[in-house]
Amino acid sequence: MLDIRVENLRKQFGSVVAVDDLTLTFPAGTTTCLLGPSGCGKTTLMRMIAGLELPTQGEIFFGTQRVTHLSTYARKIGMVFQYPVVYRGSNVRANIELPLRAEKLSPAERTRRTEEVLDLLEMRHAADADIEDLDNGTRQKVAVARAVARQPQIILFDEPITNVDISAKLQLKRALKELVTRLNQTILYVTHDQTEAMTLADQIALMKEGRIVQYAAPRELYDRPNDVFGGWFLGNPGMNFIEGFAQANLTEIIRSPLFAQPVCLSTPSSSPLTLGIRPEHVRIFPTAQPDTVPARIASRAIVVGGQYLVTLRVGPFSLKAKVAPEIGHTLAEEVWAQLPLDRITLFGTDGHKPNIALQTTC
Ligand code: ATP
Repeated sequence: MLDIRVENLRKQFGSVVAVDDLTLTFPAGTTTCLLGPSGCGKTTLMRMIAGLELPTQGEIFFGTQRVTHLSTYARKIGMVFQYPVVYRGSNVRANIELPLRAEKLSPAERTRRTEEVLDLLEMRHAADADIEDLDNGTRQKVAVARAVARQPQIILFDEPITNVDISAKLQLKRALKELVTRLNQTILYVTHDQTEAMTLADQIALMKEGRIVQYAAPRELYDRPNDVFGGWFLGNPGMNFIEGFAQANLTEIIRSPLFAQPVCLSTPSSSPLTLGIRPEHVRIFPTAQPDTVPARIASRAIVVGGQYLVTLRVGPFSLKAKVAPEIGHTLAEEVWAQLPLDRITLFGTDGHKPNIALQTTC
């Protein structure tokens, strides 16, 4: 197994800085999703790692080998692109086997590897099907199977699900999840779809404007974003933010309509703080409970899974909350809200998370 290390990696197209001085190791044998909005530099980073783009500056290592200037072929990686690359005019088995012939493997070894990936991707029933007769989701599975059968130490996926028909997306995503769990290769996977990244990744590299904002396990990134951007980008909708929740150098007790009790900061802050909380962590009750404050439902809409997305007015603040269907439809306009302190993240004016929490023991 090989790790991938980039050091001070930068790519500039004219005045556009696509990748900005990145230094990071993608650990051997893990799956990392490069996640971020359009134009943040995901594809450029992957293309440099693949050898399809030369860095303006910096180095790339596979294990201890410096590969910065090696050709794509010499890097011996597997790649799966947005559009399935398949050999037309032949069947699935032949598609998987063809690159193995180029590697001069014995017929027995070629057959063994082909049968193995057919099983791994549950494609045995389609092994003799002509590529022309397959939908593009199954063709993409063939492209994945071909990359995997070569047994490269590193596999790069560039948004492999994006251009697959909606009907085949879920099935392909399930197949990829099963695959990345079972493979020991180092996998980099570009996506702008947070659900895909949350499902597939061991680690997510969240990118913004050519930089990696946070590199963490999906749950960690979701629950403890270290930057306002992570709170906003992840989640549907993203975090609620209340700017100027605490002012600079505030050490005294904070009395806020958001909390039933006074709260204070665990450490004094040198800059004003923004409070962040995810909609699903705002709790709503029909009657007063310990630690709840009065709130009013301003709007309510049904979202995925029958959940209710509710806009709450709490004092002068507006907050989004997600509640279960059985609660959502019974709530009257006047309700009680609770913001658990352990679900709150504070951010400084620079957007970063300082090591400060809210507490009730002041
Ligand atoms: P998307 O999800 O839309 O593919 P991305 O996160 O993969 O976006 P990149 O495609 O890496 O982002 O692009 C990063 C920036 O670099 C963008 O501003 C893009 O316009 C610019 N860029 C990428 N390739 C080139 C190129 N060949 N020439 C000029 N600018 C480029």
